Amino acid sequence: MKEIKGTPGSAALFLFLAGLLCVFSGKSFLDMHRPEPIFPRPGLSEIKKLGDYLPALQDSAGDTDVYVFRGKEKGGNLLAVGGTHPNEPAGLVTTVLLIETIRAVRGDIFIIPRANASGFTHSDPQEGNPQRFSISTPAGPRRFRLGSRLTNPVDQWPDPAVYMNPPGQKLSGNEARNLNRCYPGRAKGHLTEKIAFGIMELIRKEKIDIAIDFHESAPEYPVINAIVFHENSAELAALAVMELQAAGIEIRLEASPVGLRGLSHREWGDEAGIKVLLLETPNASHGRLKGRPSSSLVVEGRDKFYARAARLGWLFVPFGEEGIPLSQRVARHLAAISALLKSLAELEPDKAIAMEGMPPSADVQQKGLGVFLHPPLKGT
Ligand SMILES: [Zn+2]
Repeated sequence: MKEIKGTPGSAALFLFLAGLLCVFSGKSFLDMHRPEPIFPRPGLSEIKKLGDYLPALQDSAGDTDVYVFRGKEKGGNLLAVGGTHPNEPAGLVTTVLLIETIRAVRGDIFIIPRANASGFTHSDPQEGNPQRFSISTPAGPRRFRLGSRLTNPVDQWPDPAVYMNPPGQKLSGNEARNLNRCYPGRAKGHLTEKIAFGIMELIRKEKIDIAIDFHESAPEYPVINAIVFHENSAELAALAVMELQAAGIEIRLEASPVGLRGLSHREWGDEAGIKVLLLETPNASHGRLKGRPSSSLVVEGRDKFYARAARLGWLFVPFGEEGIPLSQRVARHLAAISALLKSLAELEPDKAIAMEGMPPSADVQQKGLGVFLHPPLKGT
């Protein structure tokens, strides 16, 4: 057998390059665990943690920030939740935009931008997704993590073969890490169940009246451009849809199926008796028919394969060559918030919630997201 010989110099170079690779990959890995800064508007009253409501979450990968805006006038209390599924960026960006622009006038507003904080610390395997996406602002790009639908397996492992969620529904094992299958949660359950229980505790302790859970779906999924409502919120959702349609925004109404358990739009309503709405917008970047994944696909939402699928009648939303950009998806969420709060004030005036400063949906759609977001920190 021929002996492979190397010089001490080449060995040292090899070790140096291997070390360099470890440093860069280690930095990239650690960066995924560092949430990007959010710059609250001065009207912010306080930043709480989910661990304040369930101490078992404190110092865990499931703890997350809760931004609280308290209005001077008494009214209802709103909970707005983004990042239940960290691979659905419109949820995160809508809640960040609210935190950076609003002031509460009437009632208290609680905003959780990264409901499943652990899901933001890794990417979906075998998807080839970018770790981040960038939104252009006049002062440079703001970067945000694109995470996974599920809790990081580093924080919760192993998955059971079959997952029995708290209401007793049997699901495939990895759904144990899907926050939107774990409600109403378990105080002593695994991490994702603890997060779900923490959110339930917030709803109970802060006397939330209405909660909105912001999501996105693949354009080939039937529940899309939709408001999913708990039956106790049917009138509110119907009134809001009429309001949106009058403004030229097509949106469908979907009743929360009574037998589908563990989801926010079912358990928040059943368990706490609050009004619950879950909103869906079309996101090509997490669909199955997409072409090459990229930050631009997340933000611009342009994909020739989806445009072709739309021409073949395979989709549940119109999808042209121009795509469905993130600004349009966030604008839809903002329009729905306005319509829901207006409808709530009509139906239950004593529970009315009012805020000022939220960018009008049409402006976000026309001018893009960047002009409304806080400028990035230098060097980020
Ligand atoms: Zn979702």
